[in-house]
Amino acid sequence: MTTLQQNYSVDKKGYYGKFGGAYIPEMLYPNVEELQQNYLDIIYQPEFQAEYHALLKDYVGRPTPLFYANRLSEKYQTNVYLKREDLCHTGAHKVNNTIGQILLAKKLGKQKIVAETGAGQHGVATATVCALMGLECIVYMGEIDIKRQAPNVARMKMLGAEVRPATSGSKTLKDATNEAMRHWINNPVDTHYIIGSVVGPHPYPDMVARFQAIISEEIRWQLLEKTGTENPDYVIACVGGGSNAAGAFYHYLDDPSVQLIAAEAGGHGINSGMSAATTFLGKMGVLHGSKSILMQTEDGQVVEPHSISAGLDYPGIGPMHAHLWDSGRAKFFAITDEESLTAGFELSKLEGIIPAIESAHALAVLPYLKAAANETVVINLSGRGDKDLDTYMKYL
Ligand SMILES: *Cc1c(COP(=O)(O)O)cnc(C)c1O
Repeated sequence: MTTLQQNYSVDKKGYYGKFGGAYIPEMLYPNVEELQQNYLDIIYQPEFQAEYHALLKDYVGRPTPLFYANRLSEKYQTNVYLKREDLCHTGAHKVNNTIGQILLAKKLGKQKIVAETGAGQHGVATATVCALMGLECIVYMGEIDIKRQAPNVARMKMLGAEVRPATSGSKTLKDATNEAMRHWINNPVDTHYIIGSVVGPHPYPDMVARFQAIISEEIRWQLLEKTGTENPDYVIACVGGGSNAAGAFYHYLDDPSVQLIAAEAGGHGINSGMSAATTFLGKMGVLHGSKSILMQTEDGQVVEPHSISAGLDYPGIGPMHAHLWDSGRAKFFAITDEESLTAGFELSKLEGIIPAIESAHALAVLPYLKAAANETVVINLSGRGDKDLDTYMKYL
């Protein structure tokens, strides 16, 4: 299936250039080492691959379509294709990763799953696969997020998961992640920790990227079928932690003829003090077990990010993206809340597709791109907008 990439893939120690690694408390070594030593062997076993692909097909609904957006293309005078991750079971790309990790957990002989969640999307994707496989599921979620995201809390409970409030710090995603890690330290033998993006200590960023790589694997043959060539001129994706972008970029990383474009959440603007545009505002630092770019004060305190989209409201990015940014391989845009809303309304009216506000950030790059009439743009539509109707309705 997926071959090791030349320049932009992880090295043996878990680094992408100067970013990555495994900066973890000693108590976590046994868990993380067990994963580091086994993940590649397990996930490339033919039996594992067969099971993973069968579930992607019959449970998730893959391959997701690659849709030529006619009216959007007309408006921007270029050729825009949408990769429809919004049509995955549970409404976003996150399930590609949780399917892979739950199969891995079973191969490692684990009976319990722990996860963190911010807005609840990853919590729901994890609770879903735990129900599917009959594994016990505990999801840590910030106390404030539990109040803000009641429908997803209800979904997780209905799927049989236990939702535990994280009551420390700012009571949001970063605190939920800390508590999920602590839980894993205390339950190393029977529990696997399912991280929801290309973040965390090695091997998580690489492992999650490989599970999401199915996105660009499909784009290649779908585009070939439709246009006669595997390569678009541009691939655009939004970046919170970076998993949907990692998946959409993966098979194009070493082909410089394909321009990789990442849309970060600019919030109210990068100079407003209310932003989540990590590459514009961040510095090198360590967060949740890996060295990357993160938003921090002079003395290294993590800065609270802001974005209208819960999925992009994260003060860091994964190490792969830090390296893509640092090396210039990918170009980064900071898209404001307002620009993303405009793009979300535009796609709804022009194509009859209501995108997640996260995905709308990727769409909002189009006016800046100025792609030529004979060029091809693939936009990864990471999720559907049903969960965001309350937000959209405020601006209708
Ligand atoms: C969680 C989420 C994101 C952001 O996460 P990444 O790891 O950056 O992909 C983007 N879009 C949707 C729909 C999400 O649910």
